[in-house]
Amino acid sequence: MKSEPMDAAVIASAVAGRKCSAVEVVSASLERIAAQEPRLNALITVMADRALERAAFIDRQVASGGDPGPLAGVPVVVKDNLCTRGVRTTCGSRMLGNWKPPYDAAVVEMLEEAGAVIVGKSNMDEFAMGSTSEHSRFGPVSNPRDPSRVPGGSSGGSAASVAAGYVPIALGSDTGGSIRQPAAFCGVHGLKPTYGAVSRWGLVAFASSLDQVGPFSRSVADMALTMDVIYGRDPRDSTSNERGRPRFAEGALNPSVRGTRVGIVREFREGVLEQPLAKAIEDAALALGESGCAMADVSLEESVTFGLPCYYIISPAEASSNLARFDGARYGLRMDAPDFVSQLLLTRGAGFGDEVKRRILTGSFVLSSGYYDAFYTTALKVRKKICAEFDRAFTSADVILMPAVSSFPFKKGNFDDDPVGMYKSDLFTLPVNLAGLPGMTVFTGLERSGLPTSVQLVAPRWQDQRLIKYAAVIEKKFGRSPVATGGCF
Ligand code: GLN
Repeated sequence: MKSEPMDAAVIASAVAGRKCSAVEVVSASLERIAAQEPRLNALITVMADRALERAAFIDRQVASGGDPGPLAGVPVVVKDNLCTRGVRTTCGSRMLGNWKPPYDAAVVEMLEEAGAVIVGKSNMDEFAMGSTSEHSRFGPVSNPRDPSRVPGGSSGGSAASVAAGYVPIALGSDTGGSIRQPAAFCGVHGLKPTYGAVSRWGLVAFASSLDQVGPFSRSVADMALTMDVIYGRDPRDSTSNERGRPRFAEGALNPSVRGTRVGIVREFREGVLEQPLAKAIEDAALALGESGCAMADVSLEESVTFGLPCYYIISPAEASSNLARFDGARYGLRMDAPDFVSQLLLTRGAGFGDEVKRRILTGSFVLSSGYYDAFYTTALKVRKKICAEFDRAFTSADVILMPAVSSFPFKKGNFDDDPVGMYKSDLFTLPVNLAGLPGMTVFTGLERSGLPTSVQLVAPRWQDQRLIKYAAVIEKKFGRSPVATGGCF
């Protein structure tokens, strides 16, 4: 295998053209995983046998003249809250530590149909609650750019897998930033699609009105390729929808943005960001300006002020209800007890970690009679205002340029005794989920320290392909994301 990074598209055409076999590609990915995992802990389960079997199947398909698909032989990683038939799907929790789903998530099916080979399930904050990937039953993930730091969360294992060169593509889920924030921390691209654009069927629910599945990659071309595979309506997810069939790969190849308007968010101009991250915004704006975009001033004042409390009411409320299904009777862990109620209490007490318990308690509180209106109903009203504010901003801009994060990745343990401090770091990502919009973290470079800078693009609902176009322009200027320690893909 070559030692420099390879795009998914390059792998797929090499496999389809018999320049290399899927088995060779997947074996190289598994070798790299074996070498790096002791350091990174990015994966909860390595699926070596299933992956090699699958790769051999693709090679047979190619040999017999069949069409192996646009992702033929491309090794991918999926977050461990996406169901994989017969392969444990833990959500980073003791509660589901040995749970093997009887079916594959829709996106897993779609990837496999396209010829991709799933090599592992990625480590994550328990039930996707967190911003550091430290809240996992399976131990913390390290950032491949600097192992003394966190990779971000909750999809930290997926971001780390792509940054470390295990795979060119990984899937994560994003409820309040869990794709975009770890992408920023690990120095890769990460896209959260429009709410309803990608099927949530087989994604273990955290907060159902906010959850979306989306990809990580090191190049915009690979991001586009993956979006072409996973985007679209699925009748099994009642909130999934479809507004046309954008051709993402075409947008990445011909990113014409001339004559469009880029909204720069007034509130993020001064003092809020670490300097290199503020400079990344300026530089990206310059690059877009050189490509013929005009800059517009937009305000997201309400989103900045009220997004955080609004999200941290709505998401725990939904989580407390979604997680009620883990009762020791139907899924996963079951503690022995003489009667059902004590079994329920013992199982939930032992199965969930502290952060998950904190969310369930908060959610139950804001939904309790007497507080429901004061918290939950108010948060729903605020959510509407945030949606309206974005809609207003999009009357003067085609796309919004803003930060994904305000700082470089945290040192491990930084928020051990400060959960609210951790929540505050989600300021720039969660308004996008509340408004159901597509958002993308775009890698813009590495500092001398080796730590990455990035920007976030946000587009109107169902304009996911716009993100790809603007990201392609930015990538042309700054270059694609390099593998952290010299990988093979
Ligand atoms: N960090 C946010 C939280 O803890 C977002 C998590 C996510 O998007 N899954 O809720």
